[in-house]
Amino acid sequence: MLIDSHAHVDGPEFDGDRDEVLARARAAGVERIVVIGAVGDPSSAERSVALAERDDRVWATVATHPHDVEKMTADWWAVHERLAPHPRVVAIGETGLDYYYDHSPRQAQQEAFARFIDLARRVGKPVVCHIRDAHEDARAILAEHRAGELGVVIHCFTGTPDDAAAYAEAGYYVSFSGIVTYKTAQPLRDSVPRVPRDRLLIETDCPYLAPIPKRGKRNEPAFLTHTAEVVAAAAGMSFEELAAQTTANTARIFRLPPARSPS
Ligand SMILES: [Zn+2]
Ligand SMILES: [Zn+2]
Repeated sequence: MLIDSHAHVDGPEFDGDRDEVLARARAAGVERIVVIGAVGDPSSAERSVALAERDDRVWATVATHPHDVEKMTADWWAVHERLAPHPRVVAIGETGLDYYYDHSPRQAQQEAFARFIDLARRVGKPVVCHIRDAHEDARAILAEHRAGELGVVIHCFTGTPDDAAAYAEAGYYVSFSGIVTYKTAQPLRDSVPRVPRDRLLIETDCPYLAPIPKRGKRNEPAFLTHTAEVVAAAAGMSFEELAAQTTANTARIFRLPPARSPS
């Protein structure tokens, strides 16, 4: 069994075949999915929670992506405040800093990041972080707001092996996406053994970043197996060990209930 710790299956890319996508995930052994309701306006958060309400193997997170925080209004914050305590919401995110695209001004990203960490503290849930080309500032903000007490996931990790080690040293979870399968991503594969096994996560970040051999296609949770194979090899583990370890880690950080025994 695998858990996709970060998937955007709430998005319009899946409107035509969402049920088939979820069925294919299960057929591939990806039994559980954490849907990240944070793309664009808060209708993403609403859709993710609705999906989690109707499918007991799906959980949701809520926030606004750093790309979009410049557009945030009081109404957007009100939606997140209302949804954050929902029992099917397991984390606040994705929030963070993206200095690669800079779609929103850096100061707006930093302020929203701090405010989402505060929301996570008030509801007692962990924080899922999107950090790109901003690892130093991210570490400072996470430390200043003592986010480690809540639990921190650095999703779709794209830093250096030293960045991975620094996050792990702070006790944060580090999640690898399909990028780790790309030929040019040797620094990411070198980062995997710098993360203690009990802090390793895997994700699709679908519909983006399909792993090899699906690269260029729309990504979906069933493709997580390809990423798991590469991360297992980089970690010096068997596929089965990696699956059991990352499943346990994902259940721990998001406080998912124990898996039902197969009937
Ligand atoms: Zn992201
Ligand atoms: Zn994402």
